[in-house]
Amino acid sequence: MSFLASAVRLADSHHVRVTRIGEIKTYESMRKIHRHLERGTGRIVSSTVSLSNGKYFIAFNVEVMRVIPVTRAPDRIIGIDVGLTTLHTGATPDGEHVLRVENPRHYVDAEKKLAHAQRIASRRQGPKKGVAPSNRWKKANGRVQKIHVATRNARTNLIHGTAARLAKNYDVIVIEDLNVAGMVKNHSLAEHIQDAAWGEFTRQLEYKTKWYGSTLVKAGRFYPSSKICASCGTVKAKLSLTTRTYACEVCGHTVGRDLNAAINLARMGLPGTSFGTRRGGEVSSAQQKLVAMAHPGEASTETPPEVGA
Ligand SMILES: [Zn+2]
Repeated sequence: MSFLASAVRLADSHHVRVTRIGEIKTYESMRKIHRHLERGTGRIVSSTVSLSNGKYFIAFNVEVMRVIPVTRAPDRIIGIDVGLTTLHTGATPDGEHVLRVENPRHYVDAEKKLAHAQRIASRRQGPKKGVAPSNRWKKANGRVQKIHVATRNARTNLIHGTAARLAKNYDVIVIEDLNVAGMVKNHSLAEHIQDAAWGEFTRQLEYKTKWYGSTLVKAGRFYPSSKICASCGTVKAKLSLTTRTYACEVCGHTVGRDLNAAINLARMGLPGTSFGTRRGGEVSSAQQKLVAMAHPGEASTETPPEVGA
């Protein structure tokens, strides 16, 4: 059910006032949106109420004003490899290992629980043409949805934290550009989740780098970041996904697979490389004001850093 902007107001950070229905307490805090509305830096464009698994959800489409800082000079460069066990591995072009974000253990457990719940649901009478789903299926499916939402939220929060930290602290961030939409066939659950995490990470970096004046560089899909020796530049013809250590047959260099890939990615961000940033050091005369559409949960109050022009 959609509401016009005028039909829904935030009473405070925990209460929504809906025309003809009244005031409703929300489960999640709306602190960030509320603050934007109070300061006049944001407005609700529309809102949608939906019912899912016996719970009501309200989603706000919000327009937020943001001051976009000038692009920073490309001094601090980081390459990020996204993986299964270590979610994010970051390195500088000179090979320093500067970031390691583990996939927390409880996510891995939740993923196992999810797979288990999905197996149970799949053995029960689900919705089919002309056949109503059984109550046992509904119950099993409800459990699947609940774990799904919880894991997704936890991971999204983790990705938010990393993306914000990177956009604030680095001038150039290099990631691999994966065609996520085209990769979903014949995947294991773990790989599906990794693709989702990758897509979310890329999406967040795309707008957060704009907020902080840093630059996001996407190395082309065919840039072999995992296969290049970060020490001598030799490119391996083959490197299976299960090989966790990069061992160079030419120079004897041995390094963790993720770190090797991250270093190679970081070098893509060096000025002068063909894939590297061409916007580096570009300084616009004035700070531009930009109206950015942000996801409601992201109507953040993070203030972009002061950047000297
Ligand atoms: Zn080598």
